[in-house]
Amino acid sequence: MQNTYDVIIIGSGIVGVSTAWHLRGIDFAGSIAIVERDPSFSHSSTAHAVGGIWQQFSLKENIQMALYGAKFLKEFAKDQNVDLDFQEHGYLFLAEEEGLDALHANVERQRRHKADIAPLTPSLLQQHFPWLNTDGLAGGALGLSNEGWFDSHRLHSALRSAVRDWEVTLIKGSVTEIDHADTEIRSIMLDNGRRLKCGHLVNATGPNAGNLTRMARIRLPIEPRKRSIFVVHGKSAPAEMPVLVDPSGVFLRPEGPFHICGVTPAKTAGKVEDRRCDLSDFEPDRELFESIIRPTLEARLPDVKEFKIVRSWAGHYDYNSFDQIAVLGPHTRLANFYFANGFSGIGLQQAPAAGRAVAELILHGAYQTLDLSRLGFERIVENQPLEEENLI
Ligand SMILES: Cc1cc2nc3c(=O)[nH]c(=O)nc-3n(C[C@H](O)[C@H](O)[C@H](O)COP(=O)(O)OP(=O)(O)OC[C@H]3O[C@@H](n4cnc5c(N)ncnc54)[C@H](O)[C@@H]3O)c2cc1C
Repeated sequence: MQNTYDVIIIGSGIVGVSTAWHLRGIDFAGSIAIVERDPSFSHSSTAHAVGGIWQQFSLKENIQMALYGAKFLKEFAKDQNVDLDFQEHGYLFLAEEEGLDALHANVERQRRHKADIAPLTPSLLQQHFPWLNTDGLAGGALGLSNEGWFDSHRLHSALRSAVRDWEVTLIKGSVTEIDHADTEIRSIMLDNGRRLKCGHLVNATGPNAGNLTRMARIRLPIEPRKRSIFVVHGKSAPAEMPVLVDPSGVFLRPEGPFHICGVTPAKTAGKVEDRRCDLSDFEPDRELFESIIRPTLEARLPDVKEFKIVRSWAGHYDYNSFDQIAVLGPHTRLANFYFANGFSGIGLQQAPAAGRAVAELILHGAYQTLDLSRLGFERIVENQPLEEENLI
């Protein structure tokens, strides 16, 4: 049994498999293993996501990574002949008077980075979306292409089979120890007692990333935060619509014959409590639906009668409590230990760019496609948080 690999990736969620896929894609010929403790992915962030992709961010890197993600989805679907069901209906962000300047400044920045976003006045909103109650709205912004939602489960599974075909070894086991010297990782230990030596080690463990990193005596501020998703039936709800993001943080989009909705604590001005959750807590917060989501939707879409829950689930964001932005690249001292963590709710759309970024760092020692150096671990050491104004 082989016990030494050039690259070991811990975690086989969307980020781990994307990293392996991009390594092979840029002709990395060394041996690669992915270690996964739960091949059913029942607790992973990837399995609980809702497949959204959008470019309406304020941070350059977030815009660029999402654009790379959209391009990747289209090319991957074509090359691998897999239908990812990319519904390019856009995201529609709504703003009240107090948020309008920020929305316009963001749209300008997004367009500068080639994102296809259109600002909309209240009368244009009314004209294009007659079902929308525009009371209290000062404007909005709509993604005209490259935004919408896709079948993330299919993407995850297609990437997994592609890397298997590319001689990436999949190992079942939970990493329980990381053995390191002063400047490098040497090996990892699995719960079954097996020790694996590695040239490079990648942390792609999603919401568990902070716990994993602690095994190497490093503090990485990533923690699980619970998010509840509700599949609802709303009589006369628009069958075709973009992903609607209300200023209150409530969002809604179609899902087959139903709709999917939730709420983003970051936009609720403290109305929704948001703190670290237990890694085993998957209980959806129905009170959130009754107290915030339902009344908001009923006011914003007055023609829809009675939003009723058909199904619900909860999953965990891989939340970066430092600045809610991904941490990518090597540790400052343990130079062969790479982070691909802390996506804070946008890891599906960032997984292609993040996988490519880490692959380039391993193979070339530098970024070749997108310069994501500001997302490095250094900013945590130096206490220099980045800022993203439009998190959902
Ligand atoms: C409700 C919800 C909705 C979301 N919606 C969107 C969206 O619309 N768009 C978007 O872009 N993002 C979305 N996200 C975020 C996105 O799902 C995550 O950012 C992304 O899936 C993270 O992928 P990952 O591979 O890093 O982590 P994960 O999918 O969690 O994978 C990590 C893997 O590591 C394994 N692992 C952990 N510890 C160990 C260990 N010690 N040993 C071995 N294996 C280990 C786990 O078993 C797991 O399978 C959403 C998340 C949630 C919860």
